[in-house]
Amino acid sequence: MKKVLSYGGGLDSFAMLLDAIERGEKPDACVFIDVGDGTATRDGEDPGEWLGTYRHMREIVMPLCAREGIEFVWLDSERYPVRDARSLFAWLEARKQIPVSGPNRICTTIAKVERFERWLAATHGEAYVEVWIGFEAGEEGRIEKDPNAGKGKSAQRVNRFPLHERGLCRCRCKALVERHGYPVPRKSACVFCPYGSARDWKTFARELPEQFARVVALEEKKPPTKKNGIKLSIMGYDSKKKRGTPLPVYVARPERAPRKKPCTVCGAEDRATKATGCGYLDEGAAA
Ligand SMILES: [Zn+2]
Repeated sequence: MKKVLSYGGGLDSFAMLLDAIERGEKPDACVFIDVGDGTATRDGEDPGEWLGTYRHMREIVMPLCAREGIEFVWLDSERYPVRDARSLFAWLEARKQIPVSGPNRICTTIAKVERFERWLAATHGEAYVEVWIGFEAGEEGRIEKDPNAGKGKSAQRVNRFPLHERGLCRCRCKALVERHGYPVPRKSACVFCPYGSARDWKTFARELPEQFARVVALEEKKPPTKKNGIKLSIMGYDSKKKRGTPLPVYVARPERAPRKKPCTVCGAEDRATKATGCGYLDEGAAA
C-alpha cells in the first residue's frame, strides 16, 4: 500500500516527515493542498496560507524531500480549483460568505478534503492508500472523530496517525526539529481561520495589513442573516447582544497575557506554542 503524508505545512507535518526519515519508513509522497492562489513557485495574492509556511516548504521541506527521494506534491488551484474558484477566499468572496467554525464547516471540505480526494483518485485510482495525518499525541479526541481512521467507511483510504503512535506531542515535535538543526516552522492555518486566537488575528492585522483589509471587507459585505437579521462576524460573536464583533474592533481589544498551559503528554510546564505568523518560530515571537 502506498503511503501519503498529508502535509499541512506547519510543525506537526514537518516533525512527522523528519521522524519517518529517522526511523527508516519514508512515505511515497508528501501532499500539500494550497488554500490560496499560489503555486510551488510563486505566492498568491488572495489571503490564504501564512507566508512562513510557503517559505519553510520551499527552503527546507522540498529540498529535503528531493534528497530523500520522496515526491513532494503541491496541489495548487490551477490544476485543482477550490470548486470553481482560484482560492478558498475567492470562493467565499463570490458568495458573500465568511468562514465559520463548527463540525460541518465547509472550508475544510471544499479547500482540503475534496481536492485531496480528487488527487487520490487521479493518481491511485481504486487502490487503497495509507494516509498519514499529523494529529499530535494528546489529540486523541480528533483521532476518534476522524471519519477515515480505519473504520472502513472510505473505499480508498485508511488514515494513520504517526505522531500519536510515536508519542510525539507538540513540544517533542519542536525538540525533534531542533535536534536536526532545522528552523522550526509555526503552526500552519488559513490566515483568516475562525479557530485562530485573538493573538493570531492581531498578528495577521499587523504582518499582512493588505490581506487583513480584504478579510475586513469580506466580513462587511456579508448580509445580515435572513431569519433574525443578525450581522455575523468571523470572530467575537456576542451571544447576549446577538451580534458579532467587526474584525477591526476585535483586533483592537487589549491583549491578555498568555497563560502557561502544561503539556499532559510530556509534562512540560508550558507546552509548545501554536501561535501563527509570517516567520519561523525561532525568529522570535509573533507578538
Ligand atoms: Zn509536550
